[in-house]
Amino acid sequence: MTNERPINFGAGPSALPETVLEEACKGLLNFQGTGIGVAEISHRSKEFTSLVASLESNIRTQLDVPPTHKIIFTQGGGTGQFSAVVLNMLARHHLLHPDLSDEQRVMDYVITGSWSKKAETEAKRLGGASVHIVVDASTKSKDSKSFDAIPAHEDFDFSADPALIYYCENETVDGVQFSNDEQSSTSFPFHLLPAGGLWPLVADYSSSFMSRKIPRIADHAVIFAGAQKNIGPAGLTILIVRHDCIVDVDAAAKLGAIPVPITMSYKVNADAGSLYNTPSTLSIYIAGLVLERSKQLGGVVYFESLNGRKAQKVYAALREGETKGAYRSKVKEGSGSWMNVVFDVLGDNAESRFLAGAEALGMMALKGHRSVGGVRISLYNAITEEQTDRIVAYLKDFATQNA
Ligand code: PLP
Repeated sequence: MTNERPINFGAGPSALPETVLEEACKGLLNFQGTGIGVAEISHRSKEFTSLVASLESNIRTQLDVPPTHKIIFTQGGGTGQFSAVVLNMLARHHLLHPDLSDEQRVMDYVITGSWSKKAETEAKRLGGASVHIVVDASTKSKDSKSFDAIPAHEDFDFSADPALIYYCENETVDGVQFSNDEQSSTSFPFHLLPAGGLWPLVADYSSSFMSRKIPRIADHAVIFAGAQKNIGPAGLTILIVRHDCIVDVDAAAKLGAIPVPITMSYKVNADAGSLYNTPSTLSIYIAGLVLERSKQLGGVVYFESLNGRKAQKVYAALREGETKGAYRSKVKEGSGSWMNVVFDVLGDNAESRFLAGAEALGMMALKGHRSVGGVRISLYNAITEEQTDRIVAYLKDFATQNA
């Protein structure tokens, strides 16, 4: 890192590796020796289509995506998928169960924070089925308002044959994440899912994609993520979709399913090799560079161990500061996100002093989301261990000075 650049702990769009940004600048002027910049070249040129293929292969290899699943690149971000998953999964359900009425169709939502809540609101808005809340973590919280923990497994209540089962693996705003250890009480309760058939399990991985392995990837119907946290600029949305969820949405519409806008149809995008319409070329290019670098470093396995260490160091400093009365974590132990650590700084005007002090040391974008306040330290893949050590040292110093 050059000394002039501040450390960007922002929640997204977020930091990208500096070497990648330098490489990208060259590609903006001259992409793969064509003399044409990557933002100018045709998305149907052989140079660009081979880039799409290598991005796909990098994701497939590093995450061990099985051949039962297709990788699709699209646009519209996580929010676009709040709608698209409903439309595509309802279309699938209509084809499987043409005789059910809309009232008999159910979509299951697991609510663990603001993003899953937003997704559920969109599902209700679109209609076409009733929405069943599997569990709402805010109703289990001490103050019945905040999302501060992954609920106990016994509180999950899944429907028998839902059109989809939705969860958000990492809640970026609230700092709550499912554990990646299946034995943990805060893991996703795969063992409680309805028996038989292929699960219609949909996961929002927007803020943890490529940060560590995805547990039970083969059991998911759809995994989606925007690029702008761990792997590139905003504009690219990545989907991992099981083949049985790539359905003819027009045939489903004839059976009464909600018509699906063409750019949201998984089948249309899959059949066109993610090039049905002009994709977000620059974002794809930079994501490709990021994942090439990730491959050279050892892939997701490397980042899993790095990110685990980073999170462990930050939570340890936070707990130490809690014993001194300087901080209060917003999340219960065991549910804390590796990617977004959220807490309050205690004392008069202490939060402003914390943020100003960090900024003076070149550590930026630490303010919590406007809806919840407090401080948020985002530790995405591009944040190095050395940068993590700097915020850890600051957390300790500030806690000592403000004890
Ligand atoms: N899901 C999660 C977990 C997010 O963190 C975000 C954005 O921060 C979204 C969905 C929405 O993504 P987008 O802004 O790309 O629509």
